[in-house]
Amino acid sequence: MSERYDADVAIIGAGPAGTAAAAHLGQLGIDRVVLVDRHDFPRHKTCGSGISPRGIDVLKELGVWEAVSAESYRINALRLVTPGGRESFQSAGDALEAVICQRRTLDHLLLKRALEGGTTFLPYFHADHLIEANGRVRGFVARDGREVRARYTMVAGGTHCTVGVSNRPRKMIQAIMGWWRGVDFRPHTVEMIFDRMIAPYYGWLFPESDEVVNIGITYEDPEGAPRHKARDLFQAFLDKHYGDRLQGGEQIGRWKGHPIAYSYRIDNVTSPGRIVIGESALLTHPATAEGIYQGMRSGMLGAEAVKATMLDGEDEAKAFARYEQRIKRAFLLSFWGGALFRKVVKTPALDWLVAASEQPIVASVSAKLMALM
Ligand SMILES: Cc1cc2nc3c(=O)[nH]c(=O)nc-3n(C[C@H](O)[C@H](O)[C@H](O)COP(=O)(O)OP(=O)(O)OC[C@H]3O[C@@H](n4cnc5c(N)ncnc54)[C@H](O)[C@@H]3O)c2cc1C
Repeated sequence: MSERYDADVAIIGAGPAGTAAAAHLGQLGIDRVVLVDRHDFPRHKTCGSGISPRGIDVLKELGVWEAVSAESYRINALRLVTPGGRESFQSAGDALEAVICQRRTLDHLLLKRALEGGTTFLPYFHADHLIEANGRVRGFVARDGREVRARYTMVAGGTHCTVGVSNRPRKMIQAIMGWWRGVDFRPHTVEMIFDRMIAPYYGWLFPESDEVVNIGITYEDPEGAPRHKARDLFQAFLDKHYGDRLQGGEQIGRWKGHPIAYSYRIDNVTSPGRIVIGESALLTHPATAEGIYQGMRSGMLGAEAVKATMLDGEDEAKAFARYEQRIKRAFLLSFWGGALFRKVVKTPALDWLVAASEQPIVASVSAKLMALM
């Protein structure tokens, strides 16, 4: 007979969303939690690995910031290039603005935090379908037949997960990236390059350490037109913006592509016994493709909804409806800001803003706007 696990809460996916949910459930006094992933950890995840100030706040709340900070590269400046070729450099001086923490490390540290709180982790568990009875989700079954039965199921499987996610329409950002050693870069500075060839998206250079940087592009495949050839587009971007600097560098490994799913709407993220969090709930920023903060925050809010119904006796439908309201409050405004920003990038406005940012007052306002978005 196949193995069976029983839990109060079962979670599919140990990325930032699933691990933050598990860690927060432990903080809230719920420790019969089973977290599964189709991989074991540490594992690679294709990602720029940038954590925004809001993400750092969440890591502090989860009690894992010191551990993450020790493994991260500090960022306190931004080099921005506009579609018209204007450049701006904004520094926050000694203030810490963001960090780059390789996902291999970040996700593993978050998982360890969840384990400290009592979570049981099952690696190589590829969830295949939900267990449903009397209109309620009661856990899930793996491809190899193992099953986890639980009072509450949280779905945190990211973009590619098909189990337990709602079938509402989703939009896709495409991305391709690589890693290099020995490329010149300004210390503690991220670069965002807006170029018409990938508008309204951008390319980036994120330093992961004193020696290693990741460089990538996000772009969209136009509806009804042939898809871009990712490698050709990336090569053209690299030749234009990094040709000289890459001459002295050594590429590490191969380029990796990965899509990012997003939506301007948030709905259908719960049903009896089930809460969807992170990128499985399409909680990714439509302009910047940021998803680590949104994953962790929605994981925490999902955990709080489960606690409200499981330990405080609140009606489940009410607690789950409040989860949906809270993630809307947390993210919708910035997602709509992202929609606006995508339009702005296709006009000369970003060039004007950067030209104006030579004025100190505009510089500080525009830096704040970028950070808030
Ligand atoms: C190229 C690229 C660059 C990016 N750069 C950034 C950045 O710099 N900063 C930022 O904030 N965001 C960035 N993002 C977005 C970010 O990576 C995601 O939004 C974020 O990882 C979402 O977290 P998650 O926990 O919801 O899902 P994921 O991190 O995708 O984790 C999902 C987990 O679920 C597991 N899983 C999936 N299906 C199953 C299944 N059926 N059974 C069991 N396990 C399963 C997977 O193995 C995985 O471990 C980037 C994305 C890409 C593609």
